[in-house]
Amino acid sequence: MCSACDGSTPTRLTVRAAAASEQGTHRELREHVAALHGLLVTNALVTWTAGNVSERVPGNDLFVIKGSGVEYDTLTWEGITVCDLDGNAVDGVRAPSSDTDAHAYVYRNMPEVNGQVHTHSTYAAAWAARAEPVPCVLTAMADEFGGPIPIGPFALIGDDSIGRGIVETLAGHRSPAVFMQNHGVFTIGKSAKAAVKAAVMAEDVARTVHISRQLGEPVPIPQADIDALYERYQNVYGQK
Ligand SMILES: [Zn+2]
Repeated sequence: MCSACDGSTPTRLTVRAAAASEQGTHRELREHVAALHGLLVTNALVTWTAGNVSERVPGNDLFVIKGSGVEYDTLTWEGITVCDLDGNAVDGVRAPSSDTDAHAYVYRNMPEVNGQVHTHSTYAAAWAARAEPVPCVLTAMADEFGGPIPIGPFALIGDDSIGRGIVETLAGHRSPAVFMQNHGVFTIGKSAKAAVKAAVMAEDVARTVHISRQLGEPVPIPQADIDALYERYQNVYGQK
């Protein structure tokens, strides 16, 4: 597990202070985001307290994010902290996640993003450890990611490095997921739930392509077919 993401405090890590008191603002959104963390557990994407979900507060320069080191089985809305877009806690009794700087950087620089997820899910992190993009060899990948899942740079926690790496990798890319080298998966979405879905799908395809590799060399999908699949899934698929 990445110690920087699990609530422990390495010496170089900036520890974010919690707001002085609980004012109960944005409680409904905090309940929603607390509940979404349960999907990380039921989809086996997280171990111990690692991982986090955040969502932008509509109409405000704020977002809500899991408190640092808060355990999943006791997570309620009070374990979710309200932060400004510089990552400072403005409401809540828990210090926000040690990944708050990365989330804040993405919200400041990608106005279309309203939700983010970070995990160290096993197969995604295994690809990240080898710094190899997951090739687009499944129609489900073409649907959700529109191509390969890219690798972001190696970045240390404690400043804007991770956030900058996420934005530089995903800006102009179809994929809502990036595997940060030697670290894990970060996903973005129009909502926190969409980012959770991308995190679930990223782990699923990382696992399947890994298994396929054990059997031989996966067959690439031609770019024109990837484009057609992506277009259909993003614009036609589902209930209208
Ligand atoms: Zn991490």
